[in-house]
Amino acid sequence: MELRLYDTFSREKRPFVPLDPTNVRMYVCGPTVYDFAHIGNARPVIVFDVLFRLLRHLYGERHVTYVRNITDVDDKINDRAARDYPGVPLNEAIRKVTEVTDKQFHEDVDALGALRPTVEPRATEHIPEMRALIERLVAGGFAYVAEDHVLFSPQAMNAANSVLPRYGSLAKRSLDEMIAGARVDIAPYKRDATDFVLWKPSKPGEPSWPSPAGIKVEGRPGWHIECSAMSWKHLGEQFDIHGGGIDLVFPHHENELAQSCCAFHSGRMANVWMHNGFLQVEGEKMSKSLGNFVTIRELLADWPGEVLRLNMLKTHYRSPIDWTLKGLEESEKTLDDWYGVAADVPTGSPAESVLEALADDLNTPQMIAALHGLRHDAGRNDADRSALAASLRLLGFLSESAAQWQGRKQQASGIDAANIEALIAERTAARARKDFKESDRIRDELAAMGVVLKDGKNAEGKPVTTWEIAR
Ligand code: AMP
Ligand code: ZN
Repeated sequence: MELRLYDTFSREKRPFVPLDPTNVRMYVCGPTVYDFAHIGNARPVIVFDVLFRLLRHLYGERHVTYVRNITDVDDKINDRAARDYPGVPLNEAIRKVTEVTDKQFHEDVDALGALRPTVEPRATEHIPEMRALIERLVAGGFAYVAEDHVLFSPQAMNAANSVLPRYGSLAKRSLDEMIAGARVDIAPYKRDATDFVLWKPSKPGEPSWPSPAGIKVEGRPGWHIECSAMSWKHLGEQFDIHGGGIDLVFPHHENELAQSCCAFHSGRMANVWMHNGFLQVEGEKMSKSLGNFVTIRELLADWPGEVLRLNMLKTHYRSPIDWTLKGLEESEKTLDDWYGVAADVPTGSPAESVLEALADDLNTPQMIAALHGLRHDAGRNDADRSALAASLRLLGFLSESAAQWQGRKQQASGIDAANIEALIAERTAARARKDFKESDRIRDELAAMGVVLKDGKNAEGKPVTTWEIAR
């Protein structure tokens, strides 16, 4: 089976050839931890978890290294710390904010069925690597010191005329256009409008570290250098896949690419750049002011994590996704059905049709169609049923037994299963004695509790009634 992935840099789908098949290396930009993560943040988590699982299946579990960083030094974190912990020294307040949000983030993404990455490096633990990269960039003439800042010069990069890619080639923007379109109020210490910060002085009370490049005052890193440093430390100068949301292409990934290529005199940082499309809610951009901003945590109060996961995978990762209540309801119905058919079945091998769909640039809509195909045949065929079970497990579904799945839903709706079974038995008895008035009354009573009955026959032709919770 040939894995093909779409690469943002070359704008084409290409066969994936790892630099080292015994250690396939992927870096994904993680969250900035200062608040509950929203459902848009869950998209890269789920998409790259599916890719991680597929790579582990193809190359072996021990042969894939997945790094997702945690950005724990940032203005938004500082602001939140000052607001939430007034009177507490800023550094201590920051530690509290990042500790709490880091824990929340892990609880949320665990509930979404995402495997933990191999390494989750924190920016604040990689300051020496950042300083080393900055020293190299200054020594190479790609960066300069001005007013206690270190700035990267895209002009210097493009003047170097070597193996380096042109600045702007990932985002397909020309430097000349960027210069022409630059804002007028450019910081006075910048030589050129497009120069960006690698290091800056800390304000009093802010987190600070000894500065590189002979700067006397303490300072802190810019955002982009963090990822160049952490990917270098954990994956090397070059690696296979770099991922994140489409909003990161420019400037974040363009700048990471520039820093790493210039520091290592190399033509590339990652072989494949992958970006997920954006998520909007009920047809509108998610924003706090529109009141349609939803956190993963809020959704988990109403829906099992696997429903959120399936709902995310119904759309191809590069397309925009419209997150709707209707979609969630459908995803839940699908999972109810899959749980009933496959949850308690021993695992076989995942289906070829499912793997083929995933290998085609993570075509998850086609993969779900393949799962529906297996489900269709599973009623008649044990092999399809165990292939369905194995495929779903590979993808991070069926983490519970069918009884647990059904039971949690009942609990969530405050329903007492024993009471329902007793009412159904009464109704069956009423039907047997042809007291249809009473049997209808019980059906209505159950309907009022949100319980829907399905009458059928068992293998011996005897009437049986099953039930489920209506939403
Ligand atoms: P942030 O913490 O804002 O840097 O975002 C963490 C990750 O979530 C990045 O990969 C972003 O690209 C991604 N992301 C943020 N908002 C959305 C959204 N609405 N839809 C999809 N991905 C998003
Ligand atoms: Zn990054």
